[in-house]
Order: sequence, then C-alpha cells, then structure tokens
Amino acid sequence: MSERRNVQARAGEARAGLVVMKFGGTSVEDAKAMLRTAAIVRGRRERGLSPVVVVSAMAKVTDQLLAAAAAAGRGDKTGALAIAARLRNRHIETASDLLCGEIFAGTETAIRAEFDALDDLLRGIAAVGELTPRTSDNVVSFGERLSSQMVAAAFEQNGLNGVHVDARTCIITDAHYGKAIPHEAHIEAKLAELVLPLVERGLTPVMGGFIGATEKGITTTLGRGGSDFTAALVGGGLHAGAIEIWTDVNGIMTTDPRICPDALRVKTISFEEAAELAYFGAKVLHPATILPAVQKSIPVWVLNSRNAENEGTKITAMAPPCASPFKSIAAKKGLTIIDVVASRMLMTHGYLKAVFDVFDKYHCAIDMVSTSEVSISVTVDSNERLPEICAELDKIADVKLEGSKALICMVGEDIRGRSGISGRMFSAIRHINVRMISQGASEINMSFMIEQSDVEEAIRSLHAEFFANPDPTVFDTEARVVAAKA
Ligand code: ASP
Ligand code: MG
Repeated sequence: MSERRNVQARAGEARAGLVVMKFGGTSVEDAKAMLRTAAIVRGRRERGLSPVVVVSAMAKVTDQLLAAAAAAGRGDKTGALAIAARLRNRHIETASDLLCGEIFAGTETAIRAEFDALDDLLRGIAAVGELTPRTSDNVVSFGERLSSQMVAAAFEQNGLNGVHVDARTCIITDAHYGKAIPHEAHIEAKLAELVLPLVERGLTPVMGGFIGATEKGITTTLGRGGSDFTAALVGGGLHAGAIEIWTDVNGIMTTDPRICPDALRVKTISFEEAAELAYFGAKVLHPATILPAVQKSIPVWVLNSRNAENEGTKITAMAPPCASPFKSIAAKKGLTIIDVVASRMLMTHGYLKAVFDVFDKYHCAIDMVSTSEVSISVTVDSNERLPEICAELDKIADVKLEGSKALICMVGEDIRGRSGISGRMFSAIRHINVRMISQGASEINMSFMIEQSDVEEAIRSLHAEFFANPDPTVFDTEARVVAAKA
C-alpha cells in the first residue's frame, strides 16, 4: 500500500527543471547549425535547467535514405550504394568540421561502422529485390542514429557533458512498421531507468527522434515528422517541466508574413487551435504529435534556432481568454471544387454514400462539403486522379469541376458563442467572390473558398480587420512596432 503511494507521488510530480529540447533537420543540417544548437542548449544549462535533447536527421537525409531504400528494392544496387556513399561523405565532412582530436576519431569510427551496416543492408535488399516496411524502417533509422551521435559528440566537446542514448532502447513501440504506436507506460519505465540517472549526474542525454524499437529490439519508426512525437513522449515520460520544439520560424504567426508583412507572433495558442491550423497548412508542427505532452499539461514551445532570443509560441491545453476573436488566418491553395448535381437520380437513399465511395476508392481526401437539395459540392486537393474520379461520378450525376481554388481558414477559440463575427468577416472581403462557406463542428474555425488569385488580397483585408488592435497579452505587438519603424 505505502509502496504504491510512493510510486503515485513520484509519477504525479513534474520535474520543473527538466526541459526536453527537440531540434529539427535544419537545426542540425551542418556543423554550423549543430554549434548553434549547442549554444542554445548551453543557454538552458546556464539558467540551471537540465536539458534532454532529441534531434532529427540532418536536413534532407530521411528523403535520401528512402530513395536509397527504394532503389535497392527495385534491384538497383549501384544507385542505392551511390546515395549511401554521398551521405557517408556528408556526415564525415560535417564531423570533421565539428569535432577534433579523440572525440572526432571516435565519432568517425562510429559513423563509418553505421555506413558499413547501411551498405550491407542495401545490398541485401537489392539481392532480394523487395523492400518490406520493416527493412524500410531499418534503412531510414540511420539518419537519426547518425545525427544523434554527432550532436552528442559536439556537446561533449563543447563542455555540455553530452552523452548519446540510442532511442531504440527507450522508445518501445508495436510492430506497425512505418507508423509504429508507442507503448507509453513501457517508455516511461525505460526513460526512468536509462535517461533519468544521466540527467541526475549532470549529463545532457542526446537521442534521435522518429525511431524506436519493438520489445524484441526490431527497429521501427513513428511516421514522417515523428521527432516531435518523440519529444512529446520523452517529455511526457520524464514529467518534464517544458518541451521546446526548435525549428526555423519564430513560432506560430497570425498569418503568413510573406503575404502580410503586418503578421504578428502569437504568444500563446491552445492545442485545439494549433491543431486546426496545422490541418489547414500552417507547417509549424503537427499537433497530434504533441498530444502526449498536452494530456499531461506540459507546455510546448515552438522556437526559432536561428533567432534564439525570440520567445516563440507557447502551446497549452487551454489558452487564456483573448480579446481578439481569431488567433490566426491560414490559406490552403491548389484546391478544386467538384459540383455533383443529381439530375438523373435525385437525392435518393444511399446517394451520398455512392458519391463519397468514389472519392474513397481513389484515396482522395475531401476538405469541405456543402449540400443542397439536388447538389453536393466538395473540395479536394488537386489530384492527378481527378479525371478518373469525374468519369466515375459522371455515371450517377452531372459533374462540374472548377480548379485553382483556395481555402481560407480563420481559427480562434474566442469566436465561440460570439455574434457578428461572420458579418465582420464577410464585409472585410465584400469585394471578393466567395464560393463555399463552412463553420467547422469544432466551432473554432470559420472557412470559405475563394479563387486562388484572391488569396493575398483576402488575407490582407481580413488581417487588417481583425488584427488592427491586437490583444497584447496574446500577440507580440512589439514585432509590428519594429516593422513599422524599419
Ligand atoms: N527525420 C524524420 C523526417 O524527416 C523525422 C523528423 O524529422 O521529424 O520525417
Ligand atoms: Mg519536422
């Protein structure tokens, strides 16, 4: 009984001083970036924090490993080995720019051993002429295996007490290769056993994101972009005080600053709002991947490794109330509207299903739907299978296709229950032709379709309407002042 209470007390405790810092591919793309990363980690240690670091593969390496795996799977051994040879050179050159003396020698030996193993694996795949998801995961895991060893060595050399942890010893998953499901309880136990003691000794553990292993030790991956997920799993498992996702933008913005120079940094955003934005194309991070952190109420920060002074965006389970109805405006271009008019077969039973089955058959995701008595309009990503889809729909309806459309999506918790917002929204863009409208069931997003060529004008008009007097508790108004002075 008393033992159990102890475990619970320990499990419930947040380790306020422990911070999980995740660095994406561009933050480790070369020696210069890795040193910038080391400086950022040093800053956290100087504040008395204990960082645990998760890194992606060096930029573009994952794509190249997948290309090598695919080449080997086609039986193209020469092509596969040529890609591996280029990757070997890039990693060794980076290590020699980054490291010296014994630390370089040890790391170089480790890198060569990894690449020898990769070459063997690619030869094996080419000999069999078949790439299974399991071997594909093995090939692609080399990116994070390599980058994490190099970053750990850089931390060792730069006085940060870096120590490498093979993520596959801690991130235990099922055997769903390509998108494995983590076993959170198991991971928590492994982190307590293997990582926490290192932190307690003042070391800085560095592990690769994205990769894991089954209980039997077979390498798996968590799906593309999975390093954020690793960071959340590590932060959740260690009960960290915070998780920092270091990338190459200043956090989440009120809109794309290339379209609207007045765009502001959003200081705090809720998990739900970030999730809506990610779906509609804000590329910062995929919130589903930080769910393990949000469920444990661990704040997640999005920060810029090229501009470390910037405070970034804090993503929390519940954002503070905000005087501005919206937090951000996103746009998704390259969409097509398909109007399906049921002339021959009025909306009879099973009609909607028949229509949606056609999209399903061609794995075509639908963004927005609107229906009337006799017609259904759907919007889809412009897709090379659209002609086939239309030919099939044509058998049950009259089909009309309009390309070059864009979706504008306005997100904010504070539109819930407020009246007059849509009136303001449409009057701000009254000079623009709106094709379809929807308000998501989540009640925190309002979206509508326009011509792609109207996107810039619509965003600027909406931004001027809703962000002219931004709430300084939620938006970085300093940014605007600086921009106006410059
Ligand atoms: N390197 C992996 C990818 O490119 C994982 C990540 O970077 O998050 O998908
Ligand atoms: Mg990423």
